[in-house]
Amino acid sequence: MSEPQLPARQLQILLAERPIGRPGEQTFEAVHRPLEPPAEGEILVRVTYLSLDPAMRGWMDDRPSYLPPVALGAVMRGLAVGEVVRSRHDDFAPGDAVSGTFGWQEYAKVAGKDASKLPPGVGWQLALGPLGMVGMTAYFGLLAVGAPQAGDTVLVSGAAGAVGSLVGQIARIHGCRAVGIAGGADKCRYLEQTLGFDASIDYKSVDDLSSAVRAACPKGVDVYFDNVGGPVLDAALANIGRGARVVICGAISQYNATDGVQGPSNYLALLVQRARMEGFIVFDHAPRYGEAARAIAGWLEAGKIHYRYDVVEGLSKAPRALLKLFDGTNRGKLLVRVDPQAQ
Ligand code: NDP
Repeated sequence: MSEPQLPARQLQILLAERPIGRPGEQTFEAVHRPLEPPAEGEILVRVTYLSLDPAMRGWMDDRPSYLPPVALGAVMRGLAVGEVVRSRHDDFAPGDAVSGTFGWQEYAKVAGKDASKLPPGVGWQLALGPLGMVGMTAYFGLLAVGAPQAGDTVLVSGAAGAVGSLVGQIARIHGCRAVGIAGGADKCRYLEQTLGFDASIDYKSVDDLSSAVRAACPKGVDVYFDNVGGPVLDAALANIGRGARVVICGAISQYNATDGVQGPSNYLALLVQRARMEGFIVFDHAPRYGEAARAIAGWLEAGKIHYRYDVVEGLSKAPRALLKLFDGTNRGKLLVRVDPQAQ
């Protein structure tokens, strides 16, 4: 394949400050920099789509975590997909579709070992959605950590989002009763009418969330998949059944906390119900991603899984778009279309 012409400069978005509380546009700085050719063993990727994820908020803080913080002045970290436009690595050729941690930039110069080719037929959005990190998170968080049995009641928070919407659907595929907690009547309608959840709770409109969970889960909660933390976790803990598994996937309600993370005050329910609460990081399951991707692809093809995306146009919009995750205005997996031509 002939090599496409490349622009002399590209847009990059840098981390400009360590935010206190919710990030703002001042948290980032947009710069236009010369495009550098790949060195030996590297490839140059034209980014087509960037994934925006709640975890990005944690990467901005200078504190120990499962990944080092993004350095001030560095290109903001982010998972992305794109097309190889120059290669100095034997395994890649121009035209290859790849995924990797390419960051908030139009072109990424990365070592070949840091990029993975997309399987044939897997489109850009799918590769950042159900067949990407969020799909792997739902699959392993629910099945490996939550260990649901047919007939169990599986409760999930952030249920209309990228991970949560998959968790409920995979629970139903495994013969469980799926109950979702989400913000707003439209998201709850989506859960029940489009995704097939058995019940839903609009946590923004109920006076007493714990009672609402009890009403929706009369036999108790066997698996609680938590994306949200804070008071929602407490309401779930108040309703767990004997031997329940509480999966700590995330705690988005706490990511912008300025006066300390709110821990669960109802944790003694774990003792009373002989239950366990366990956190996980999806990357630990990387050796089994192939198995998960095959299963999810099969469910998608069979029409057993429905999925939606919220696509924001243009890399320059990424700083503002990230906030959609924290105000709940994203409708599905949040992506930025970096290349306007990308399908
Ligand atoms: P979503 O698509 O679910 O978007 C985030 C949603 O969180 C919003 O739409 C909003 O939905 C909800 N939300 C935001 N603020 C609050 C709040 N204060 N209280 C309750 N709900 C809130 O994001 P993802 O699916 O990408 O991520 C879901 C979770 O999974 C996150 O916690 C993330 O960090 C975690 N995660 C963990 C991984 C791991 O390896 N452990 C890997 C990937 C993701 P609503 O309108 O319903 O409030």
